[in-house]
Amino acid sequence: MTKMYYHNEINETVLKEKKIAVIGYGSQGHAHAQNLKESGFDVRVGIRPGKSAEQAKQDGLDVKSVAEASKEADVIMILLPDEAQKAVYEAEIAPNLEPGNALVFAHGFNIHYKQIVPPADVDVFLVAPKGPGHLVRRTYTEGAGVPALIGVYQDATGNAKDLALAWAKGIGSARAGVLETTFKEETETDLFGEQAVLCGGVTHLIKAGFETLVEAGYQPESAYFECLHEMKLIVDLIYEGGFSNMRYSISDTAEWGDYVSGPRVITEDVKANMKKVLEDIQSGKFAKEWLEENANGRPRYNEYKKREQEHPIEKVGAELRKMMPFINAGNRKVVIK
Ligand code: NDP
Ligand code: MG
Ligand code: MG
Repeated sequence: MTKMYYHNEINETVLKEKKIAVIGYGSQGHAHAQNLKESGFDVRVGIRPGKSAEQAKQDGLDVKSVAEASKEADVIMILLPDEAQKAVYEAEIAPNLEPGNALVFAHGFNIHYKQIVPPADVDVFLVAPKGPGHLVRRTYTEGAGVPALIGVYQDATGNAKDLALAWAKGIGSARAGVLETTFKEETETDLFGEQAVLCGGVTHLIKAGFETLVEAGYQPESAYFECLHEMKLIVDLIYEGGFSNMRYSISDTAEWGDYVSGPRVITEDVKANMKKVLEDIQSGKFAKEWLEENANGRPRYNEYKKREQEHPIEKVGAELRKMMPFINAGNRKVVIK
């Protein structure tokens, strides 16, 4: 099996001696900044004035402008939305980089697709948690963590990998396991996972199931429980013990239906489509189109977002969840990127 790195074998001294800047205070930013601070690292947050800057101050962090934080720090982690990174990097971070500094990412997008081209005399590495930022924070406070990938793109100081491991330990990820990868592998697998399986795959599977039942005349409430609510309960069993654990818990009738009907839904055609999605990621076509969409003011993004929010499954779900206050959704923005 591939080498995994865990908490007790990582020496974080190399990062303890550095000044750290976390740029951005959103989903990942708030988690990295707070977890590192509580792990005893010297953290400042670089952020434009606004809502999340106020939040960072309320959370007791040392808040500065992006330029100031970058100038002061030795290790600079960019946790802005991928599509915003290039402009902020060029205007405020690059002019403040010194030889021997480190530039860090939680996703390889901007380096892999050559949006950001750092100077040769800085370390460039990634620490990519395999989970939403709000869970990077929540699991840390519970004494756990979400797994992370690390990868080194440029090792100017000879310390890049040790810094990456120390960062992963500092945010709690080494409690779950840290795996070494490359920017190419992290970028392409992350984009594929979120598009084909985790976000795009799951929502469209749920929606197709819900629509099939409702169009056949069944109650939307029943279709919601069946196709959406129970998804988490089933996935929890898979998460805890794999497919076998889930199949152990369900009825033999459900298990038989899983074997005979699953492949009728997720056919070889679906896999062929997944391969096409992967090809567009590998060729840079997806990245190019997403950057163009941003440059055009996001017309299609906004249209799709509105359409999805208006889908009947969202309406019936909102009503049903009101009656299940223990679910506590809506108060928490959980984002997988
Ligand atoms: P968010 O969208 O949550 O980041 C928002 C933060 O960036 C806010 O502080 C916001 O400030 C600031 N910001 C937004 N636009 C700009 C801008 N144009 N100029 C300056 N600041 C800006 O980002 P994520 O945490 O989702 O993503 C950060 C990185 O982490 C990305 O590389 C992503 O791929 C990666 N990643 C994200 C995961 C996730 O769970 N979300 C999972 C793994 C990796 P303001 O409040 O002022 O708008
Ligand atoms: Mg992602
Ligand atoms: Mg991801």
